Amino acid sequence: MAKIQVLDKQIAELIAAGEVVERPSSVVKELVENSIDAGASAITVEIQNGGVTYIRVTDNGSGIQRDDIPTAFLRHATSKVHTQEDLDHIGTLGFRGEALASIAAVSKVELLTCAKGEMIGSHYRIEGGEEVDMEDAGCPEGTTFIIRDLFYNTPARIKFLKKDVTEANAVAGVLDRIALSHPEVSIKFIRSGKEVLLTPGDGDLLSDVYAVFGRDFAKNLLPVDYTLHGIRVHGYISKPTAARPNRSMQYFFINSRVVRSRTAMAALEESCKGSVMVGRFPASVLHLEVALEGVDVNVHPAKIEVRFVNERPVFDAVYHACKNALQKEDDRKEMELQS
Ligand code: ADP
Ligand code: MG
Repeated sequence: MAKIQVLDKQIAELIAAGEVVERPSSVVKELVENSIDAGASAITVEIQNGGVTYIRVTDNGSGIQRDDIPTAFLRHATSKVHTQEDLDHIGTLGFRGEALASIAAVSKVELLTCAKGEMIGSHYRIEGGEEVDMEDAGCPEGTTFIIRDLFYNTPARIKFLKKDVTEANAVAGVLDRIALSHPEVSIKFIRSGKEVLLTPGDGDLLSDVYAVFGRDFAKNLLPVDYTLHGIRVHGYISKPTAARPNRSMQYFFINSRVVRSRTAMAALEESCKGSVMVGRFPASVLHLEVALEGVDVNVHPAKIEVRFVNERPVFDAVYHACKNALQKEDDRKEMELQS
């Protein structure tokens, strides 16, 4: 008998799901990204037990038409990418068409949605990848996802989950980053019945920084806004005197996408050499706006890494943007001394 066999579809689904959904915070990340892509201006996230037993994400976005609902849960089903060319300039947060399929494969999902222009909404349930039912429902325009009992059918995964408080902290971290990446969207987070985050959604990054990190952090920042090689860098860096003992407060967003970028980090730190004490690290909340063609976002299943077509201009833009902000602060201090 042949030794090599194609995996059973359901097992293949579970394996694929594992790449996208690692823990409750990955579910929250994917659902909130979908809400943003749907044009929502307000998103509420509620979790119980670290998100393991219960996650609810409600948005006021476009909603999903009844006919589209079952398809939305199929792997590689998306409304965001149609052709190969589309992959070269992705402007949405999602594009892989994998999140809903992955989440539904490993949990019990309830969806309540009403699309713009539809008279009546839909209530849909899918558990372990199997459709349970679809009913009419009255609901406001927008979408609510409720995810229950994550990994109920994959016990091996449950063992890797940390304590509820740790999982809840990871969810909080994801929401902090998403809030900072989209100041025009109001984000509310209810953690075990208690509202712990509410961003105004007024488009002002500084009010988001206030809401997320508090006053002490927000008052020790220098504004950055600089364009070089067609790359705009804007946001805030810490005053040299407010540098941190580690890199945990270095946040970068590329085209409103939460990313890790070694290049941007290196440029930030290089710009602060000489002004920040050795062994201390600048904090940053910096947005980079790069031509869509200049970045490849399709590098990582969870989409946390991006690749730049050219790293050098990105380094230069961040470096000079931060240098410029630090120089302005020096000039201001100089003026103060003179007057
Ligand atoms: P992707 O985001 O990569 O397209 P997903 O599996 O996350 O893939 O979602 C599948 C599709 O379901 C999306 O392309 C979108 O059309 C629809 N969708 C998901 N969530 C929402 C939402 N909150 N509001 C409106 N449409 C949604
Ligand atoms: Mg998505």
